[in-house]
Amino acid sequence: MTVAVIGGGISGLVLAHRLRSQGTKAVVLESAARVGGNVQSPAHEGYVLESGPNSFLDREPATRELAAALGVEARIRPADAAAKNRYIYTRGAMRKLPSSPPAFLTSDILPFSARLRVLAELFSGRGPAGVDESLAQLGRRHLGPEATTVLLDAVQTGIYAGDPEKLSAEATFPQLVKFEREHRSLILGAIRSQRAARKASAADADGGSKSKLTGLLSTFDGGLGVLVDALAAALGDAVHTDAKVEGLTPQASGWKVRVREHGRTVELLASQVVLAVPSHVAAGLLRPLDEPLAAKLEGIPYAPIAVVHLGFAPGATPKPDGFGFLVPAVEGKAVLGTIHVSTTFPFRAPGGRVLLTCLMGGARRPDVVARDEDALVALAREELKAMTGLTATPELTRVVRWPRGIPQYTVGHLERLASLDAGLKRWPGLHLTGNAYRGVGVNDCIRDATRLGDTLA
Ligand SMILES: Cc1cc2nc3c(=O)[nH]c(=O)nc-3n(C[C@H](O)[C@H](O)[C@H](O)COP(=O)(O)OP(=O)(O)OC[C@H]3O[C@@H](n4cnc5c(N)ncnc54)[C@H](O)[C@@H]3O)c2cc1C
Repeated sequence: MTVAVIGGGISGLVLAHRLRSQGTKAVVLESAARVGGNVQSPAHEGYVLESGPNSFLDREPATRELAAALGVEARIRPADAAAKNRYIYTRGAMRKLPSSPPAFLTSDILPFSARLRVLAELFSGRGPAGVDESLAQLGRRHLGPEATTVLLDAVQTGIYAGDPEKLSAEATFPQLVKFEREHRSLILGAIRSQRAARKASAADADGGSKSKLTGLLSTFDGGLGVLVDALAAALGDAVHTDAKVEGLTPQASGWKVRVREHGRTVELLASQVVLAVPSHVAAGLLRPLDEPLAAKLEGIPYAPIAVVHLGFAPGATPKPDGFGFLVPAVEGKAVLGTIHVSTTFPFRAPGGRVLLTCLMGGARRPDVVARDEDALVALAREELKAMTGLTATPELTRVVRWPRGIPQYTVGHLERLASLDAGLKRWPGLHLTGNAYRGVGVNDCIRDATRLGDTLA
C-alpha cells in the first residue's frame, strides 16, 4: 500500500521523493494549485522574487545530496562576495556587524559599557538546571541586557521573526545551551567548538573527503523554486495538486484519507499517513480522533510575516552594501529586516537593477501584516527612507502575506514535542514532519523529512 504524504511544501515533497527513491510507493496530496508551500520563486519583469525563503546555508549534507539526486547541484549559487557585510539598525543608525572579536571591541555596534559587559561573559555562570529558559533570559545572563536587546534580538529576528522573551533558548538555539552546559561560557564554548571543527576538517582533508559543502549562504540560479520544480518533476503524477485532505479515519490496517480533489471528494487507502502540513492544519485533521493531541499541535503559535519586494530600475538608486540589515524590536519599526537581494544574488535582478526584500511584522508587530498592499509598500518605503535615506521610486512592488508565517518554538516547545511523540504512539502509521517541530529553516525541513523517509522506507 501507499504512504499518503499530506502537504506538498518542501517537507512533504522531500519525504515522498526519499520514499520513492527507495522503492516505497508514496503520493503527495497538496491543497494548493501548486506545490512548494512557502517556497515560491516567481519571475516578474526581469526580477526573480522569493515569496518565502531566500537562501540556505550550504552546510547541510541532506540538502546537497538531494540537489545532486535531482540533477540540480550544478545550479547552486553562493552569495556574492559583496554580501559579506551585514548591518544592524540600532540607536538610530545603520551599523556594521563586526566580523571578528577584535573588530567587535572597537566597533560602535553597542555602547562601550555594553561591549565590556559582553567581555564579562567569560565569567558568567550556568543557568538553573532543568529549566527551559527563554532566549532573552539566557542572553541577559551571558551577554547583558543591551547585547540581548540588540544583537541576540536581531539574530533571532532573522530566523524566527519572534519575541526572545517567549522563544525557548534550547529549542531555537540549541548550540548556545550546549555551550553553556559543557563550557559554562558561550564564548569559551564557541572558541573550543571552532577549534574542534577545524581539527575535524583537517582530518577530513587528510582522508581525502569529497564533501562539497561550502558553508556559504546559497540559492539556485532561478531561486529556491528550482529545487521544488525538480522535486515535482521527479515525483511526476505522484503529486496531486488541488487536493485538500479533509478527514482521516484509522482502519484495521492503515488509514482512509478523505480528499477534496478538483472539486470531487475521493477516498484513498494508505498504509501510513504523514502530516507535512502546518501544525494548526494537522490539529484540525486530528481533532475528531484525539483532542489532546490536537490541542498540543494547536499550541504551537506562528508569527505572521509580510514580504515586500521593491525593485528599482538601473541607475535609480545606488547598489546597497552587504547582505542587508536587521532591526531589533526596540527600534519600534514594522520592518524586521531587509535583504539586499541584488547585491547578494545579482542574477536575481540583472542589468544593474536593485532589488530589496523587506520582511515586516513578525511576532511583535502582528497587526502590520493585516494592512493592505499599498499601505505595506508605503510603510516599507517610509521606514527605509528613515533608516537608509532611500528616496527613489521603485519600478516594481510586490507584496506577499503569510498570516501564519514562521512557527514559534516558545518555552516548553521541547516538552510539547515529547508529548506529541508519545501521543502519536496511540495512532500507528501516523507521522508528523514540517517546520513546526525540529527546525524552521529549509535545511531543517529537508533533514527531518529525509530522516523520516529513511525510517518509513
Ligand atoms: C517569509 C518567509 C521567509 C523565510 N525565509 C527563510 C530563509 O531565508 N531560509 C530558510 O531556510 N527558511 C526560511 N523560511 C522558512 C522556510 O521557508 C519554511 O520553514 C519551509 O519552507 C516550510 O516548509 P514545509 O513544507 O514544512 O511547510 P509549508 O511550506 O507550509 O508547506 C505545507 C503545505 O501543506 C499544504 N496544506 C495545508 N493544508 C492542507 C490540507 N488540508 N491538505 C493538503 N495540503 C495542505 C500547504 O498548501 C503547503 O503547501 C522562511 C519562511 C517564510 C514564511
